[in-house]
Amino acid sequence: MTNQEIWQAVLGEMELNLSRANFTTWFKSTFISALEDDKAIVSVPNTFTKAWLEKKYHKDIMQALEKVIQRKITDILYKVELMKQPASNLNNIDGLTAAHGSDKSFSLPPEAGQPAAKDFKTNRFGLNPQYVFDSFIIGKNNQLAHAAAQAVAANLGKAYNPLFIYGGVGLGKTHLLQAIGNEVVKNNDKKPLYVTCEKFTNDYVQAVRTGRAKEFKDLYRNVDLLLIDDIQFMGGKDGTQEEFFHTFNDLHQSSRQIVVSSDRQPKAIQSLEERLKSRFEWGMVVDIIQPDLETRAAILGAKCREKNYALDAEILTYIASVVQSNIRELEGALNRIIAYHQFNQAEPTLDSTKEILSNIINNLPSKSITPKTIIDVVSKFFDIEIVDLTGKSRKKELVVPRQIAMFLMRAEINTSFPTIGNEFGGRDHTTAIHACNKIAGEIKQDQRKKQEIESIKQLLYSF
Ligand code: ADP
Ligand code: MG
Repeated sequence: MTNQEIWQAVLGEMELNLSRANFTTWFKSTFISALEDDKAIVSVPNTFTKAWLEKKYHKDIMQALEKVIQRKITDILYKVELMKQPASNLNNIDGLTAAHGSDKSFSLPPEAGQPAAKDFKTNRFGLNPQYVFDSFIIGKNNQLAHAAAQAVAANLGKAYNPLFIYGGVGLGKTHLLQAIGNEVVKNNDKKPLYVTCEKFTNDYVQAVRTGRAKEFKDLYRNVDLLLIDDIQFMGGKDGTQEEFFHTFNDLHQSSRQIVVSSDRQPKAIQSLEERLKSRFEWGMVVDIIQPDLETRAAILGAKCREKNYALDAEILTYIASVVQSNIRELEGALNRIIAYHQFNQAEPTLDSTKEILSNIINNLPSKSITPKTIIDVVSKFFDIEIVDLTGKSRKKELVVPRQIAMFLMRAEINTSFPTIGNEFGGRDHTTAIHACNKIAGEIKQDQRKKQEIESIKQLLYSF
């Protein structure tokens, strides 16, 4: 059997036990890119899918794969990679950061290990030298986070400890964390270490598995600055949380700096221990929200200068007015516009820019989003069961996500109010109307709420 045939059979198994929406949400555009003895690499289209496969479906995938190939599997790595000609046999299977890795993939110390599973090259501190304060544009949306990050870099362990930065996808959290690290490397002989929460978790799991807990401690507790990105992924991982708690205490007691990022504020991270949440609030908690039009245009201008490409202010403002969601999208749109004009050797004009952007926008896969997908994504985002989301209970932790789901059905795919009511266990259409009005009102007044819904939309549109 080829890898492709094997994966088709695995998907067949998975499909039996999953709802249609779940199946397409999480398994669309996945494939096996390598299979060797007892290890496999499964390629996935984006980090959300990766996180969910690791978190929710890893065991099932493993079982299905074992059933199909009739032998034991010890590792499956999930790697973000777009669908292309799948490689049939990768010989560097050990060279990737393992989600559930083999002994060999255990990467302590980082000097001897591999670069993080990222699309950029990082140095031995886990730092990408491109992400510095100099290239970070300050706007109202991020000025506090930026100032706190600079203060921390200049006074390790003294200004705010820990520093907790949160905000939606693509708004510059990783950039700021990395900038702190790069600043520290530049200015003195202090030792920073940047890791994603995922890498910290993998290293820990590996350390325990291979009896190298001491090495793990030596690595993570012998730094002057520990930067942990996307801590929300630690929710539910009890052993790792325990270890992180001790690492945190150890560093904090000796005034060494900890900086953490997350897509939401500490208390909103599901299944994260209370004692960790409360420690995150010891220091400074700052958020980054979506940039306003002016900041978006300024960021585009800076990116153009970096790329040595000139675009009129009018064009920049136009792009900034159309692409509002986040800076990664903004950069993506800019790259497409530049690529198009370079390829066609054409001078960019407002009209040609408009045309390219309308293509990008119309290509959004919004047609495939159904009420079921929204229910699915919202329940996953809040880590609640679908039956609870659509059920009768009026507990606050269910009512709010339910109202958000109703709102999204109306706002994103224009579902009729009676249909929305039906999707939620036959509720009256007036309930749906009330929910939509309530959330629409809250978004206007509450930036955080707006941000939260933006994150859910990102998730919705990310497959
Ligand atoms: P997050 O970690 O919040 O998802 P990133 O830090 O990865 O977001 O940012 C996404 C992209 O946008 C990166 O290329 C980053 O350099 C860029 N970016 C984000 N914020 C800014 C900013 N204020 N100025 C310049 N570039 C930014
Ligand atoms: Mg990030």
